[in-house]
Amino acid sequence: MTLDAAWARRWVAQAANAVAAAKDDLTELDRQIGDGDHGANLDRGFRAVVAKLDEAPAPDDETVGAVLKAVATTLMSTVGGAAGPLYGTAFLRASKVTGREEIDSSAVVALLEAALEGITARGHATTGEKTMVDAWHPAAEAAAAADGQPVLAVLRAAAAAADAGSTATIPLVATKGRASYLGERSAGHEDPGARSTALLLAAAVAAAEE
Ligand code: ADP
Ligand code: MG
Ligand code: MG
Repeated sequence: MTLDAAWARRWVAQAANAVAAAKDDLTELDRQIGDGDHGANLDRGFRAVVAKLDEAPAPDDETVGAVLKAVATTLMSTVGGAAGPLYGTAFLRASKVTGREEIDSSAVVALLEAALEGITARGHATTGEKTMVDAWHPAAEAAAAADGQPVLAVLRAAAAAADAGSTATIPLVATKGRASYLGERSAGHEDPGARSTALLLAAAVAAAEE
């Protein structure tokens, strides 16, 4: 099995649904350690992405990269805050390594690694700082470890690692982003961006299972 642009479009649709369903939960997480807008920010962004992709029918030779690039530019212009540029850069970098009609398991690994590199280039966070990097980093690592397995197995490994990575942010003290203003008081809460990352990667799995 390989993944194509239709998969990337299904990923966007699944992500938009997942973000809409989790909007209040993400906002509540962000209310605990931030300014309470993460759910609304992402919901606005993914609705705009769906609208953008629905504007015109998919060209026959559409690539995964072209879909991811549309995600990137739309998120950058609609999400704002910290997460907009971070997710925008992640999808932009990912689009550059997937400019093909079909991608295999190694390309999925490259996609996730490129996304992680985009986020760290933009936000300068490393693991353990209670940010979305704590979900993306284990996801990229788990994907690399599963490289060569069927593409669905690679995606599932990445999504499971992101989910565990997000949960593991709960005891951490934030040292990047708005949550860092709380210092020690940020401990005991899950990072909203790490949770939304886990949702996005679960949506990528669901889109591959469809
Ligand atoms: P804002 O904090 O501007 O309101 P959001 O609420 O949309 O933006 O997004 C907050 C999320 O962004 C955090 O939960 C965290 O995961 C992520 N984040 C913030 N700063 C950084 C950073 N420097 N590197 C990586 N992720 C970050
Ligand atoms: Mg916020
Ligand atoms: Mg904000």
